[in-house]
Amino acid sequence: MPELPEVEVTRRQIEPWLLGRRVARVETTAPSYFFLTAPARLRRALPGRSAVRLERRGKYLIAELDDGSRLLLHLGMTGQLFTAGAASVRLLSAAARAALAPEEQPRFAPDAHTHLRLFFADEGPALLFRDVRKFGKVQLLAPGEDCERLRRLGTDALALDGAALFEATRGRQVAIKSLLLDQSVVAGTGNIYADEALFLAGVRPRRPARRVSRAECEAIAAAMRRVMLRSIETGGSSISDYVSPAGVDGGYQDERHVYARRGEPCPSCGTPIRRIVLGQRSAHYCPRCQR
Ligand SMILES: [Zn+2]
Repeated sequence: MPELPEVEVTRRQIEPWLLGRRVARVETTAPSYFFLTAPARLRRALPGRSAVRLERRGKYLIAELDDGSRLLLHLGMTGQLFTAGAASVRLLSAAARAALAPEEQPRFAPDAHTHLRLFFADEGPALLFRDVRKFGKVQLLAPGEDCERLRRLGTDALALDGAALFEATRGRQVAIKSLLLDQSVVAGTGNIYADEALFLAGVRPRRPARRVSRAECEAIAAAMRRVMLRSIETGGSSISDYVSPAGVDGGYQDERHVYARRGEPCPSCGTPIRRIVLGQRSAHYCPRCQR
């Protein structure tokens, strides 16, 4: 599932293909829960507009348009935002992928899962939003329109501050990892980076939040920023469907310490990494290095 680093990598790579380009035509799939704004309205409202800014908040991308309206994009579980012509085997169905030799990476042809296509007046590459499982979201906000989804987001994980995290943990019985995954507390965190930050800070994922010390909160916040920045630098994690807009896999998955490494030796002490289930999500930790 794309987390903050993957969304930020997407933002940086999509930005030059979006800003200042006037939309000429919009194609969508049929209405579904993917569209928070009816597809017919998107097809009517977007042509003629161009984006002046592309921002990220938590896992949301927000394109500010030249008339002051905003186009909100969320990649959900399997969303892929890329330009037409990107080449990657991750953009093919599993069956199509299996039939290909690794060196044959054909160009992507829009399929039934490509829910939104923006074509531009300059006739350059179209921008495509594909999402196999459709947990992604598209919403068009009128100028000045309030958005509850954005309003309820907590501090962006890249700006997470130890003192603020310590405040947020006081009196909370919930496991520290579940608190870190709560988007109203820390926006942008997901399973991979929460596990990694807790490992680096030496705190067990299941520890009640109220029993995490001020110094540990400082360590968690610093580790969170560090793993996220490092992941952005390496192009994000390509563990499941994530693919960057350029069709290139991220490299962060090769640097994981604990996430999805159950049974493998801890990189610090050699103890096998444990996997537990916490709030219906998996959590990975070293029973020796994390308390
Ligand atoms: Zn260890």
